[in-house]
Amino acid sequence: MLSLDGKRALVTGASKGIGFAAAKLLRQMGAEVTIAARMEEDLRAAAEEIGAAWVVADVATVDGVRAAVEAAGEVDILVSNAGGPPPGLPSEVTGEAWQAGFETTFLSTARLVDAVLPGMRAHGWGRIIAITSLTVGRPSLTLPVSNAMRAAVTNHLRTLALEVGADGVTCNTVAPGYTATDRLKRLHADPEAADSIRRKIPARRFGEPEEVAAAVAFLASEEAAYITGQELLVDGGFSI
Ligand code: NAD
Repeated sequence: MLSLDGKRALVTGASKGIGFAAAKLLRQMGAEVTIAARMEEDLRAAAEEIGAAWVVADVATVDGVRAAVEAAGEVDILVSNAGGPPPGLPSEVTGEAWQAGFETTFLSTARLVDAVLPGMRAHGWGRIIAITSLTVGRPSLTLPVSNAMRAAVTNHLRTLALEVGADGVTCNTVAPGYTATDRLKRLHADPEAADSIRRKIPARRFGEPEEVAAAVAFLASEEAAYITGQELLVDGGFSI
């Protein structure tokens, strides 16, 4: 098994779903992990289950990012994750919804990166990983805010990879396809509609959060040092 002994990680949006699975696997690989999310009760239970430190923080806000980064201390691994924007048609997105999506999906990552990058560069080692979505390459009609903001995150990290490659810091995104979490259950509650999606996925099933976490863990490892500026799709082949 790849080892993260001696590494410190901050995983946001980690009280459940993909963020939680990623935090759990990083812990199992030996990293010291701090997890952040907005709801204290869920977060505390998640942290106790995996032996992580925890901090209540809304990463859509300046104060939330500051709280998360202060609690985690100098980190070697950042996994930037939060809830996805709500669905709707592109022509119906309000100004408020664009703003909220910008803050939750794009600015959260940009601010977290700004806060952790100086320490990573000073140590000559760092892993920046953002959870995005298969919708970056294959926009979903009903997720316009997600499509736009995750493309922005992807290109921000690709651009940053150009700057910090020589400092031992890699910047990558992990793009999940349909993954069996609470978000998926919320978006695809109708069992027939869910079955029709499964039939379109080459793997003929939804992914598990642990399968997305495995991609995160690999990109966080020493062994992935020469992989930067990339998007790793974990989608059962849906994007082919
Ligand atoms: P989820 O809703 O199951 O979990 C989201 C986690 O983020 C929770 O812990 C929640 O408390 C936390 N969170 C939400 N907003 C936050 C905020 N502002 N600050 C701090 N924490 C916050 O979601 P998930 O299915 O695990 O998805 C994780 C990410 O991956 C989301 O951005 C989602 O859009 C994206 N994604 C998911 C799927 C899927 O099928 N599940 C597919 C593609 C992309």
